[in-house]
Amino acid sequence: MAERIAVVSGAARGIGAAIATRLAADGLRVGVLDLDEKACADTVSAITEAGGQALALGADVSDEASVAAAVERLEQELGAPTVVVNNAGILRDNLLFKMSVDDWDAVMNVHLRGAFLLTRAVQKYMVEQKWGRIVNMSSTSAQGNRGQVNYSAAKAGMQGFTKTLAFELGKFGVTANAIAPGFIVTDMTAATAARVGVGFEEFKKAAAAEIPVQRVGQPEDIAHTASFLVSEGAGFVSGQVIYVAGGPRG
Ligand code: NAP
Repeated sequence: MAERIAVVSGAARGIGAAIATRLAADGLRVGVLDLDEKACADTVSAITEAGGQALALGADVSDEASVAAAVERLEQELGAPTVVVNNAGILRDNLLFKMSVDDWDAVMNVHLRGAFLLTRAVQKYMVEQKWGRIVNMSSTSAQGNRGQVNYSAAKAGMQGFTKTLAFELGKFGVTANAIAPGFIVTDMTAATAARVGVGFEEFKKAAAAEIPVQRVGQPEDIAHTASFLVSEGAGFVSGQVIYVAGGPRG
């Protein structure tokens, strides 16, 4: 692979950390972006200890100035990014009648506004280099999930965002695809188990029983798919949503 620089948001832990580590193992230099720069230290050390190159970037993806500053720093310290993985995410679950405007806005801001801001900041380097890879994190919840009107709307929005990027940027050698994970073992699913008052082991077991391959997913399952979509050979795959859910839709 030619020298490529990636930025992965929400990469301090969970799926983002696995993707950042995998892309570094694939030979990319990686900007490990998360809200708190210090929280990125574990991901950065895992990458550098394995012989890769990474830079911790503290930024709030929903804040325009913060995103611009992080991308500028990445460009100066590791090189111009031509791979972006929009993975940062939060949950603010509630039934519609109990959902606050803040819960709605917070989810829209991190997922949709965040993906828009980070992609917009990086696209100029992709267009300059006539090559780029955009990977957006959707979810099986895009198809609707009780208690998640905000999250499912945002994750469905990520799919429309992805397809439009594929149309607009294809002529510059840029592909855009979305991954829609099913149940993946991270702090996010652990927090959901805690919120509904079920032990995490029991929660995972119940989820696995509903999944065709009879297991829950691991962050590495998503990292593997991201690695493929970012690879040089995936240049004819664009505008797609890949459900990585152990079955047609988890
Ligand atoms: P996670 O463990 O909660 O990690 C999310 C990361 O995003 C955290 O490090 C978090 O930072 C960071 N983040 C939150 N808001 C941010 C902001 N404004 N700016 C920058 N970083 C921010 O979640 P995960 O399970 O790995 O999920 C990663 C992505 O996959 C999310 O988009 C999620 O919606 C999606 N997904 C997950 C699952 C699943 O089953 N786990 C399924 C489908 C889709 P803090 O720690 O500081 O909050």
